[in-house]
Amino acid sequence: GNKRLDLAGALLATLFRQLFRQMVDETQREYRRLVNDGHFNMETDALDRINSKKITNGLKYALATGNWNADRTAGVRTGVSQVLSRLTYASSLSQLRRLNSPIGRDGKLAKPRQLHNTLWGMICPAETPEGQAVGLVKNLALMAEISVGSSSEPVLTFLEELTTDTLYEISTQDIPDACKIFVNGTWLGIHRDQEYLLDTIRLFRRRGEGIDAEVSIVMDHQYKELRIHTDSGRVLRPLLIVDDGRNQDTDTPVPKLKMKKRHIQKIRNQNPDDPNNWSFSHLVSQGLVEYLDIAEEETMMIAMRMKDLGNTRAVARYTHCEVHPSLILGVCGSIIPFPDHNQSPRNTYQSAMGKQAMGLYITNYALRMDTMAHVLFYPQKPLVGTRAMEHLKFRSVPSGINAIVAIACYSGYNQEDSVIMCQSAIDRGLFRSVYFRAFSEEEKRRFGGGTEVFEKPNPRECVGTKPGSYDKLDEDGLVSEGTRISGLDILVGKTIGLAPPPGVEANDEENMVPLVGGKTKKDMSIGAKVTENGVVDKVMMTVNDSGSRFVKIRLRSIRVPQIGDKFASRHGQKGTVGITYRQEDMPFSADGIVPDIIVNPHAIPSRMTIGHLIECLLSKVSAIKGVEGDATPFTDTTVEGISAQLQANGYQLRGWEMMRNGHTGRPLEAQIFLGPTYYQRLKHMVEDKIHSRSNGPVTMLTKQPLEGRSKGGGLRFGEMERDCMISHGAAAFLKERLMDHSDAYRVHVCNICGLIAIANLKNNQFQCRGCSNTTEISQIQLPYASKLLFQELMSMGIAPRMMVS
Ligand SMILES: [Zn+2]
Repeated sequence: GNKRLDLAGALLATLFRQLFRQMVDETQREYRRLVNDGHFNMETDALDRINSKKITNGLKYALATGNWNADRTAGVRTGVSQVLSRLTYASSLSQLRRLNSPIGRDGKLAKPRQLHNTLWGMICPAETPEGQAVGLVKNLALMAEISVGSSSEPVLTFLEELTTDTLYEISTQDIPDACKIFVNGTWLGIHRDQEYLLDTIRLFRRRGEGIDAEVSIVMDHQYKELRIHTDSGRVLRPLLIVDDGRNQDTDTPVPKLKMKKRHIQKIRNQNPDDPNNWSFSHLVSQGLVEYLDIAEEETMMIAMRMKDLGNTRAVARYTHCEVHPSLILGVCGSIIPFPDHNQSPRNTYQSAMGKQAMGLYITNYALRMDTMAHVLFYPQKPLVGTRAMEHLKFRSVPSGINAIVAIACYSGYNQEDSVIMCQSAIDRGLFRSVYFRAFSEEEKRRFGGGTEVFEKPNPRECVGTKPGSYDKLDEDGLVSEGTRISGLDILVGKTIGLAPPPGVEANDEENMVPLVGGKTKKDMSIGAKVTENGVVDKVMMTVNDSGSRFVKIRLRSIRVPQIGDKFASRHGQKGTVGITYRQEDMPFSADGIVPDIIVNPHAIPSRMTIGHLIECLLSKVSAIKGVEGDATPFTDTTVEGISAQLQANGYQLRGWEMMRNGHTGRPLEAQIFLGPTYYQRLKHMVEDKIHSRSNGPVTMLTKQPLEGRSKGGGLRFGEMERDCMISHGAAAFLKERLMDHSDAYRVHVCNICGLIAIANLKNNQFQCRGCSNTTEISQIQLPYASKLLFQELMSMGIAPRMMVS
């Protein structure tokens, strides 16, 4: 309730203030030093001694790293500036409405993570990450806004005009009977007619006369306090103002919306030249809609729907009405069809997953050089969507395809969250996508005078050439557009001169490199990663602000769906492709419809994603009738209603179809739930994850295999795998995994003392220095890591002895 949000403006302002103070302090110190030394020259020093770059660089640094707080007092705030996610348009929008609570992620106190009642309509109840940051990272609801702050001056003037008695004018006896007035937390004075004051000041706010629309006015009857806030960072949300009307027949009071049909007509009027064309802000300035913050909302009586206004059993008189209950959701939550029919965590899962879907993330992607971007071929707008999608532009820049989905068990290749996909549909372009990767290289100026040069390195004059192929480089050192690239190919050829330029000190580190075999240059080329392949899509060269040439290169690779790729519906139902069947092997309906995707029925009962089923049913109706279905939550749409429409069009009312087995041609025993469902292709693809290794690089310290696919590392045989082998009694296999395929090593130990002995196998000479023993020596096998541990223990004064029997 009393929380305040820091926005970009406030954050930059604090940072600037800190940097400015630092600059002033520094300049002052410099002046003082000069004056004390008697060297201060007003003409030259006054301006020259000001380090003006301090502020620019400080701002640049903070924006680049996200570390705020320039004077390192009270810790630095990290992650203040972030790189905007460009995976899907929705993911960009969602990130722009994200809130972060400055509480440690490791804290196990549940309170700050829980959704508070007062956050209704302000913060999305579904969209929050899972795990460490649950509930700490939040997302604003669709209509929520944040106050920018306004001066309290007009409010103070108003209060004065409305005969508020300031603290100087009153005696203590007056206080208990009157209403105390606070502005931004400061007690100003008292007023004797609180209702009059409240009504007048609220009226002026609604009229937009003098008092800003974002000012909050809270009347606390219990404490007899009127609290007014004009500060920045309060979350506000718009509500329709309700007025007292009268029923003409019975002459009883009936609450009515201030907004009438004629106002809506003005909003609907999209002719920009028409002076009667209204925007949303007109509704606020005309006093039809009002922004309330959490504190003021608490003092109001808000009807959920318009029809509730006539409810005579309401406890108190309605003052406001919700615009629409579905507006409690945020950006990602608003993309889910029928979220009100899903188990709540499923909506949270989808809110996280929608950000990994691929689609059209922005329309000018061909001109951009994003580090990573996925673009789906032929994205479709969903057959069934929500009203909020219209405003989130989900229909214009969508991220999915209306696939024909059957919920069935078929051949067993869709168990445990895997799906069967139609290969023929994939061949026709279903869920095909393109992956762009861009990177930049610069002709860096090295300290000491050397400058890198883009060119095709000549192996006869270069040291340190890379393992990849240099053949694809042109004379200018760059690959040309349209070149096919596969693992380790060099993309940018770059060299730096080895000989120190005349006049440069020879002890400069960069130029210390000895000239090897008459070679005069060092290769600084950049190649693709081992696993990378594709086509050079775009090469761009310019000059940066420091005058160095720099190049940006974008690679493109087309991704055809294959076994292992990840797909998901909009209900937290994700799955990987288990197998693909050609059309003739897929089941088919009486109409000859063949599903694109077959999901397992076991994915439904325990997860209770009823929205998934209703979406499918309504999509079927939409496809048949050629209309878009409305899946906005909290509306009057019912399954019965949809079923009736389906039946009216000659289909089984629950969406079932009699189907035949594609392999045998026999009818399937059960009827199958079949219909279009909007599916998303997620960015996780096997091509980027597939990994295997027999032999490869090892770490220097332990001689054990490296970790990670990018480094060609090994696959971990962990504790649990080890336990499996032990329980199976597969000791020889276990030894092979842990030793022979890892860091097998051989040492010679003294039979007497058990410590490592010196061995010279060439001359067949052995010796234990401690025992002067040269004959009683044994050769033993052990992991290098344990040999290392023994030596580390020895360095601490502990002698681990390997006693051989
Ligand atoms: Zn010994």
